[in-house]
Amino acid sequence: MDMPSPGLAEFDYVKPASLLEASRLLAERAGEAQPFMGGTDLFVRIRDGFIRPSIVVDVKHLPGMRGILYDEQAGLTIGAATTMNEVARHPAVQAHYPLLAEAAKSVATYQLRNRATLGGNLCNGSPAADTAPAALVLEGRFVLYGPGGEREVPASEFFLGPRETAMQAGELMTAVRFPPPRAGGAGKYLKLGRSKAGDLSIVGVAVLCFPNGTATSGHCFRIALASVAPVPLRVLEAEEVLAAHPPGEETFALAAEKAMETATPIDDVRASAAYRKAMVRALTLRGLRDVWAELAGQED
Ligand SMILES: Cc1cc2nc3c(=O)[nH]c(=O)nc-3n(C[C@H](O)[C@H](O)[C@H](O)COP(=O)(O)OP(=O)(O)OC[C@H]3O[C@@H](n4cnc5c(N)ncnc54)[C@H](O)[C@@H]3O)c2cc1C
Repeated sequence: MDMPSPGLAEFDYVKPASLLEASRLLAERAGEAQPFMGGTDLFVRIRDGFIRPSIVVDVKHLPGMRGILYDEQAGLTIGAATTMNEVARHPAVQAHYPLLAEAAKSVATYQLRNRATLGGNLCNGSPAADTAPAALVLEGRFVLYGPGGEREVPASEFFLGPRETAMQAGELMTAVRFPPPRAGGAGKYLKLGRSKAGDLSIVGVAVLCFPNGTATSGHCFRIALASVAPVPLRVLEAEEVLAAHPPGEETFALAAEKAMETATPIDDVRASAAYRKAMVRALTLRGLRDVWAELAGQED
């Protein structure tokens, strides 16, 4: 009896010498050619038959795609092909953007993080991408190179739907930029998965808080969620509650309730929609308490 043979469909492997060459190829063969960096999303999707590109274009070695640069004035620039382990262990990321380091470290396992890249995580357009909530609350900007030259897209405008992003035919992500860190801020990424390591999130919650004299509360809070909507989601309704009321247990509970109301999860193999909603409230509340306690600790 013939059994279906698991494995990758055939494709051509191309390693362009420049961004221009890569972008031209991707534009000319749009729909057939697919870029890749770590391949931890792409090859799984090819193997499982979701996509069937005839060409895969290796872009991880191209100029400017790797490395991490930090400058007090300019902020942080991370090459799109920088791996999750490189992001998570970089001293400047740990010191100034600990929320991003936490998010990168929460991805899968150590071995996978040696291949999986920051840019691949974002370009994949999954609502479950662990670094997306961090990019949203830290107001990251994605550098895209394409037939029209280079442009920057704010994280808030990048995610359009499941597997759908603002990238156009022939465009490649080359880097992710973050503004300088907010003085006196604290951030946290909380992830709930089916196991402690190696799984996509059931819910992911990023919380950032920093002093802000113009807010009634004296602080600005930002919250973003993974795995509970068609896209990674910034929860502006909850942020408004936090801006308008004095920080504390009552306000945090109200904001966590708003975050839960904003989430529109689905039932899937990982969890039911109802459980996900309850966990949005629980993790948002925990994240708010954690960052507030950390800020209080900094003031002591
Ligand atoms: C076992 C396992 C566990 C996982 N666990 C997690 C997890 O816990 N959290 C999580 O968030 N993810 C997880 N993932 C998904 C995956 O590992 C991450 O999303 C990873 O960061 C993808 O990066 P990559 O470099 O491998 O991307 P690739 O597979 O190379 O690419 C991903 C997508 O982006 C496109 N792309 C790649 N590079 C570019 C570019 N420069 N410009 C434009 N488009 C580009 C590709 O065409 C593809 O569609 C897991 C995957 C596996 C197999």
